[in-house]
Amino acid sequence: MNAEIIGVGTELLLGQIVNTDAQYLSQKLSQLGINLFYHTVVGDNMERVKQALSIAVDRVDLIITTGGLGPTMDDLTKEAIAEFLGLKLVAHQPSIDAMEAFFVKRGRTISKNNYKQADFPEGAIILPNSVGTAPGAIVEYNDKIFVILPGPPRELQPMFENHVIPYLESKSDEKIVSKVLKIYGIGESVMEEKIQDILANQSNPTIAPLAGDSELTLRITAKTARNDDPLTLIQPLENRIRERLGDLIYGVDGDTLESVVVNLLTRSSKTLAVAESCTGGLIAQRITSIPGASNVFIEGTITYSNQSKIERLGVTKKTLNDYGAVSYETATEMVKGILHTTGADVGISITGIAGPRGGTPDKPVGLVYIAIADKNGYMKVQEHNLLGERTRVQQTAASIALDSVRRMLLNIN
Ligand code: ATP
Ligand code: MG
Repeated sequence: MNAEIIGVGTELLLGQIVNTDAQYLSQKLSQLGINLFYHTVVGDNMERVKQALSIAVDRVDLIITTGGLGPTMDDLTKEAIAEFLGLKLVAHQPSIDAMEAFFVKRGRTISKNNYKQADFPEGAIILPNSVGTAPGAIVEYNDKIFVILPGPPRELQPMFENHVIPYLESKSDEKIVSKVLKIYGIGESVMEEKIQDILANQSNPTIAPLAGDSELTLRITAKTARNDDPLTLIQPLENRIRERLGDLIYGVDGDTLESVVVNLLTRSSKTLAVAESCTGGLIAQRITSIPGASNVFIEGTITYSNQSKIERLGVTKKTLNDYGAVSYETATEMVKGILHTTGADVGISITGIAGPRGGTPDKPVGLVYIAIADKNGYMKVQEHNLLGERTRVQQTAASIALDSVRRMLLNIN
């Protein structure tokens, strides 16, 4: 099935809002195996919306519109589709009831304009809106499908997930399933080299590498008949990739370095404490963003000044004087200190120069020391020279620290 997205909204054309609906839908359509051929944006203008529809029906089977379902005069998407197809707009009573209930519940009075949100081209399938008042719709006309969605992403996304995906899946006798492998610790070109032959000979499943800021992903996508199990296609390929990349693969699908670390700590009943300098609490923030972190995370302390490194962590004045705050020795004392003061099983410390100022020839911007230790005497201190501007240095340092903890917990180097 070939598709086009038509974003309706003058705001989009004026650059007042970014077309994130198109981005979201594009990702979803590709995961569904639907070929998206065009993105169109058109203003809130009846003639031009109809013109866009007329171009679209000549070149695709599935047309998805976003926006213009609201109660105001400039919301005219449904009107344009109805006129274009020569269909009447008819009131949909269940939508009127739902809308009235929505207003009553919020103690607001419904205005006359609102009722137009419950008008749909005759014969349309109505898509309930779980978070707003404007339902969406699907209109099947000859062999074309029109999916009509509201503009606000918080309304569009659940509607697409809950109603449009099942609909589109039911239209296809194939199904598409993908699995994402998440990789940390090598660059894109090294990864591609390791699996070059696998990448070169892919058809079904396909493999799509994607390089993020500091991590890589490989999306394996399989297409099978509706009743077959796509895992029988995905699993052998995944195994081959795992043979090559091994423990560089830290997780799958929605996993993040921090979620993997929290899970590993939970499984081994170990606790974590962190002493951060140049990352300013970033590791603690990433760890605590994971549900269940409270079972394993004891404390994060941001010891930014020398004084605080001395007072809170017991770093010695002599170490700071002799080696400086950004040094192997200071990182070592910081991690020992945080283990000592918190009694945690595992500790992380980070000290570095995030920039853009503060670098010297000896200690340039991007120099970071990361220490990982546990209470049984494990100690690993790494020196890194990280590239990029301040936030990039901070993010990368935090990621390396998390990956190092993962490796320690799995007993890999
Ligand atoms: P409403 O009932 O709120 O009027 P609507 O379905 O009529 O919704 P629009 O009036 O076109 O949609 O847009 C409402 C808001 O939705 C915009 O101000 C913007 O915040 C968001 N929005 C609209 N289109 C998009 C888009 N393509 N990408 C991201 N956000 C969008
Ligand atoms: Mg609107």
